[in-house]
Amino acid sequence: MTDSKELLAQVRDVSTDSEYFSPIPKGYRKGKTKYVIVMGTVMSGLGKGIFSSCLAKLLQDKGLKVSPVKFEGYLNVDSGTLNPFRHGEVFVLDDGMECDMDLGTYERMLDQNLTRANFCTSGQIYSSVLNKERHGDYLGRDVQMIPHVTGEVKLKLRRLAMDSDADVVFVEIGGTVGDLENAFYIEAMRELAYEEGPHSCCFVALTYILEPKTLGEQKSKAAQLGIKQILQLGIQPDILACRCENPVSEQARQKISVFGNVPFERVFSMHDSASIYSIPSMLRDCGLDFEVLKLLHIEDRINLRNERREWARWCDFTDKIGKETHAVTIGVTGKYTSVRDSYASILNALEHSGVQLLCKVKIKWIETTDITDANAAEHLRDVDGIIVPGGFGTRGTEGKIACVRYARENNLPYLGLCLGFQMAVIEFARHVCGLTKANSTEIEPSSPEPVIDILPEQKKIEGLGGNMRLGGRDVELKPDTLAWRIFGRAETVRMRFRHRYEVDPRYIETLEKHGIVFSGKAPDHPIMQILELPGHPFFVGTQSHPCLSSRPLRPHPMFVGLIAAARQRHYPKERLADPETAVRKVCELDEQGQETLQR
Ligand code: GLN
Repeated sequence: MTDSKELLAQVRDVSTDSEYFSPIPKGYRKGKTKYVIVMGTVMSGLGKGIFSSCLAKLLQDKGLKVSPVKFEGYLNVDSGTLNPFRHGEVFVLDDGMECDMDLGTYERMLDQNLTRANFCTSGQIYSSVLNKERHGDYLGRDVQMIPHVTGEVKLKLRRLAMDSDADVVFVEIGGTVGDLENAFYIEAMRELAYEEGPHSCCFVALTYILEPKTLGEQKSKAAQLGIKQILQLGIQPDILACRCENPVSEQARQKISVFGNVPFERVFSMHDSASIYSIPSMLRDCGLDFEVLKLLHIEDRINLRNERREWARWCDFTDKIGKETHAVTIGVTGKYTSVRDSYASILNALEHSGVQLLCKVKIKWIETTDITDANAAEHLRDVDGIIVPGGFGTRGTEGKIACVRYARENNLPYLGLCLGFQMAVIEFARHVCGLTKANSTEIEPSSPEPVIDILPEQKKIEGLGGNMRLGGRDVELKPDTLAWRIFGRAETVRMRFRHRYEVDPRYIETLEKHGIVFSGKAPDHPIMQILELPGHPFFVGTQSHPCLSSRPLRPHPMFVGLIAAARQRHYPKERLADPETAVRKVCELDEQGQETLQR
């Protein structure tokens, strides 16, 4: 919260008798940071985040400092309470911010850790404006959408520009132009471009070209109307990116160019591609990166030697896509099986590891509600490894436990993530330690053997959204364990968390006596973070979400380990690298070694 004195100390241009209200952070230098503003027309879900992150990557490769921000229209303050079934997975940043899955795309594409400053919702903007109003910060003025709400948006953006010291801030506006809920963001961007002056902002509109099967040709009318709508809001797009199933024809692009006042050479085709990691090269091939540099007058800031090096590293990775020599099938259990977006980070982490190990990863979605010990084999016979991902609630948990049991007893590579870690503890307690009634109190509140229980430190905190252990934490590794070896024999690693429940410390001794090894623990509390089973080819569980920190050029060791073990199982006659050697090989691609995993 800001009080009026603090606000006045931080900003200038605030006065009661002027219509100009545009709070600018003290020390802000106009012209230092440029802005690329990406918005969508025709429909949502066009991949604005993907486009924006790929373009940002191309500029980052050229030695420019980039910082992305996503503006969400909804009133939730963060994404913590959103159902992944409706909105895709909740991505968690190192600082604990629960945000939109697009932030995951940015982190992966830019190999950069983001913070809460990179994510903004209408809820955040409004609550900040309302707090300031209650504190009298607006000096007796009536508080209005324009200039106060739009002013808050610009303030947030300029703060990000200053704090990140970015050459270019990439602004992605959620939803579609014309939506009531994001209209003030668009107006704020119009004001920003006016205030910052020529060559400060580059507006990109993503649009969609229809290609009805019955007509067999590309139709651009919907795109034209969408662009008209942007023009009506006082914004002239500089670049138009046309999404389409197939490459957009010259004719369609010419039409759009004429109707949108955008030179033909800045109307690009961004057609479907098998992997999002091929998109940077698609944009680069048509010269989009240099168009942006020209528009923003920053050609003199780039470092081409840096770009050559970074681009070669990137192509080492992308050249392997589609050239896999091996293939494995990984079973993924979960209740959101109908929406792939709910598992975006896991799918990405599998792709990163698979590509690096030249192994195509096929996914078999496993609905666990009907799985029992008696029929688990039927569902799992054809998979080479299994992941039980994170989740909440009780649905399908007994089926997940049956899957874990099958994996443990049949040497099937297993990776348990968060809830999957807890399921592994329950399964082991029931079938190995003889605690037949073992359960989690999330599933059975009055369980007589609550091996998984609510965190003692969190018990006191009430209310949804406030009682979760969130964000990056250090995990202490136990020497000579598999986890220690695949993490390059590091003492600690940084992992990301989002959970309420944990192993009840009273059961640790019993579990360990029967053979579970807790190879990762919190440094100061008896919170178990990683488990493994010696003697099994790969049985690993973690209370964290390693998928959130896997990056294309630095795949996460736990996923590399899983795929290596699955590959060995699928090709028993070949002598392939074991999980530890595979991780060492793949991660050696990175000159900075293990250290960078903790970034
Ligand atoms: N529901 C479990 C908990 O709250 C697991 C959470 C998760 O998988 N993200 O601890």
